[in-house]
Amino acid sequence: MSVANAVNTDKRAASSPIIYFVLPCYNETEGLAHTADVLCTKVDTLINNSTISSKSRILFVDDGSKDGTWKIIQRLHNSNEQLFGGVKLAHNRGHQNALFAGLMTARAQGCDAAISMDADLQDDVNAVDEFIANFRNGDEIVYGVRSARKKDTWFKRNTAEAFYKIFEWMGAETIPDHADYRLMSHEALDALSEYHEVNLFLRGIVPTLGYNTSKVYYERGEREAGESKYPLKKMISFALQGITSFSTKPLSFVTGAGLLSILVAIAMFIYVLASLGQSHTVAGWGSLMCSLWLIGGLIMVSLGIVGEYVGKIYMESKHRPRYRIETTL
Ligand code: UDP
Ligand code: MG
Repeated sequence: MSVANAVNTDKRAASSPIIYFVLPCYNETEGLAHTADVLCTKVDTLINNSTISSKSRILFVDDGSKDGTWKIIQRLHNSNEQLFGGVKLAHNRGHQNALFAGLMTARAQGCDAAISMDADLQDDVNAVDEFIANFRNGDEIVYGVRSARKKDTWFKRNTAEAFYKIFEWMGAETIPDHADYRLMSHEALDALSEYHEVNLFLRGIVPTLGYNTSKVYYERGEREAGESKYPLKKMISFALQGITSFSTKPLSFVTGAGLLSILVAIAMFIYVLASLGQSHTVAGWGSLMCSLWLIGGLIMVSLGIVGEYVGKIYMESKHRPRYRIETTL
């Protein structure tokens, strides 16, 4: 650990940090008041035993809800302006964008760290004790990792597992299996603010920031009220977004398939030569089959090559930071 880091950690361990709890909400009228109640009790306890600063806040982000979610947030804010904050997005921009908006607001309001969690209390609120302890010990990012997915359906558990495997296989980052339940320090939020892409996949970006991280295991419960805002259709598109935001490997598959097709053409050509002059063949089939596979293969390889360039343009267009300097001497 560098001297600067050691000093930082000592300072962190000694003071009570300002922690922001960031909760994206989309049509959450049914359970929001209860969530606020549970979190408020938790935050009060943490403030009373000086684990966190009294300037800590619970920040709700209304992701363009169509029900009375914003009214509840306003009511909570009026009941305790210091504790409850709110951000209202003009339209529904999706969980990831809502979360980003909340994290950037927390950063702008001067938090020492922000903890993101779902508004349905599926994430065990008591895990934050360990989050904060790890932060005070010097970790910049703490992931809340689901120890058992017993409460999830067989389908959700297995599709999620398959997704993380494919994601890694695609050459993208290894990501801990966490549902965006994590703590990020102010410094990590600064680094995150450098990512300007519109198609956000935070679970993929956060591990690439290159900070000291740790994991806290917790058991993920069931949604306390209302219905999931992630139906199968949204889940699939989220998974595809995750993969395509980080990997252009699917484009290489086209080149691979084209090369395979050319190989088939060559094999076919050899077979045609071997069958020359035999009576069971129909006139013209050989040249037809060979050219079919060859042209098919050439077209796919050309598409793949164009795809590689498009992939490069796509990655460049994100304007992601090339690196993050950790220390300079
Ligand atoms: N959410 C959001 N915008 C959306 C969909 C969901 O802000 O377009 C919020 C939602 O209110 C919840 C969190 O994202 O706080 C996770 O959604 P949900 O619990 O429905 O997902 P699941 O746990 O079923 O995957
Ligand atoms: Mg949920």
